[in-house]
Formats: sequence, C-alpha cells, structure tokens
Amino acid sequence: MRTLREIPALREALGDARRRGDRIALVPTMGNLHEGHLALVEAARERAEVVIATIFVNPMQFGAGEDLDAYPRTLEEDQARLEAAGCDLLFAPDVTTLYARPLEAQTRIVVPEVTEGLCGASRPGHFDGVSTIVGMLFNLVQPDLACFGEKDYQQLAVIRRMVADLHFPIEIVGVPIVRAEDGLALSSRNGYLSPEERATAPRLHRTLCELRDALEADGDIEATLAAGTRRLEEAGFVPDYLELRAADLGPVTPTTREAVLLAAARLGTTRLIDNLTLTLPR
Ligand code: AMP
Repeated sequence: MRTLREIPALREALGDARRRGDRIALVPTMGNLHEGHLALVEAARERAEVVIATIFVNPMQFGAGEDLDAYPRTLEEDQARLEAAGCDLLFAPDVTTLYARPLEAQTRIVVPEVTEGLCGASRPGHFDGVSTIVGMLFNLVQPDLACFGEKDYQQLAVIRRMVADLHFPIEIVGVPIVRAEDGLALSSRNGYLSPEERATAPRLHRTLCELRDALEADGDIEATLAAGTRRLEEAGFVPDYLELRAADLGPVTPTTREAVLLAAARLGTTRLIDNLTLTLPR
C-alpha cells in the first residue's frame, strides 16, 4: 500500500488506475481505525479493483470546544491495518494541503434540510464541514463509489443528498454498524471512556433495542421515547437527543413503515451516537 501526502502524487497514482480501466472505491476516515472502518474497506474491496482510503482529521467539522486537538492520531497503526485489509492507496494530507486558506475564507458546501435537527442541532456547522471535505475528496479522487458507515446515519443521508443535488457520478454504499460483542458501536471516541463508562456504554444500544421492540409491537411513540430518555438518564447518560424518524430522516407520519431510532448521549465528556432501523406496524 502506498501512502500519499500530496495532491500531485494522488492524481498520478489515480491516473494510472483510471488508464487501466479499474473501478476506484473511496473510503474517507479520520483515522484511528477499528473494525468498523475495516468493514468499509472490505465493502470497497468487493466492489472495485482499486481501494483508496483517506485519513484526515477535518478541522472544519469540529466546533469550538470539541475534541479536534485531542482526537487520536495513530497513522502508523492505521497504515498497518489498511495494508492488512487489502487497501491499495492511502491519502493522508496535512491540513494546509487541503485548506489553502483560513477556514472562514474557505469555499464550502452547505446541504439544507437533512442537516437540520439531530446532530445538526447540537453541532452547528458540523455537516457543512463534512459535506465540504467529502465533496473535496470526491473531486480529488473522482471515485466510482464511496463507502460510509450507517453508524453516522445523518452523515450518510447528508452525503446522499449532496451527491444527488450536485450530480456527482458516484455510487454511495452504506455499510452496517460494526459493534463490540456487548453491542457498543465501535467508534474512535470510545477510547475516551473510563473503565466504568465503558461498562455503562452498551446500555445505549440495549435501550435502543428495547425501544425498537416496543415500537414494533405498536407502543405509543411519544411515551416510548420518553421512557427511553429516562432509562438513559438513570444509567448515567446525558441524552442529547432520542428521536424516531422515517428512514429518509423525514418526520414519522401515519403511513411511515421504515423508520430509524437515533440517539446521541454524553457519558462523562464523551459523546456517543447510535441508531437502529425498524419497521413500524400498520
Ligand atoms: P470516522 O473516522 O469516525 O470519521 O469514520 C469514518 C467512516 O467510518 C464513516 O463513514 C463512519 O460512518 C464509518 N464508521 C465509523 N464507525 C463505524 C462502525 N462502528 N461501523 C461501521 N462504520 C463505521
């Protein structure tokens, strides 16, 4: 696997692949890779001849007071994991390579509607940073397809909308959430949890499973969500949101069948997100 840090080297490597007629799959990440990221690489590997991962801790998607500086940076371990997973190229640029100007002067992509509420409400500007960096990587790499985790459900919806609205000729592949054995969704941020918090953290997924079962059995939506919020608080979480939306993140209506439960909650200083799809009864 070759690691590229500059744009001309990236273009040259991709040009070779394109001339061979290879399909190119992109896997964007912020590094500190775990099995969830590697599932994206595997999905990419199954669908394309050339897999390119990117590692870039994107300052534009972090708000003031968030964990930009503390975010784990583990390039050497990540390179070994990507290599073992069969990744062909790694693009790991410096911040100034992608953002030539101060962030506030930088051109950005703003996706409306689907960015409203959920993480968009508690992390203002976050999705502008995500859509801008993903749009930039799409432009630099021009992949045939790109793989994203369903763990970041709203992010995946934002990217699908951006690709549709801006006519990027790129197939977006959503990859199911990879979890630890106790149900906790794998996340680079899990490393911030103390041993006690780590023991509590799977309660988030367990609560979502209980709520899913209640809703699929025709439980009252508002009462079920209120009970879920209480359960999370009793377990020691500070819930940020717990919502039921239609699978496309629109509001739930009487005709909605395919839905998704989405939650974000703080455990100490760590913010965890998770979601679960479900089918509402008629
Ligand atoms: P990140 O490095 O956290 O920005 O994540 C990079 C990509 O990996 C995103 O598309 C995430 O949705 C995906 N991802 C992160 N954690 C998981 C997981 N546990 N299961 C599946 N995909 C994941």
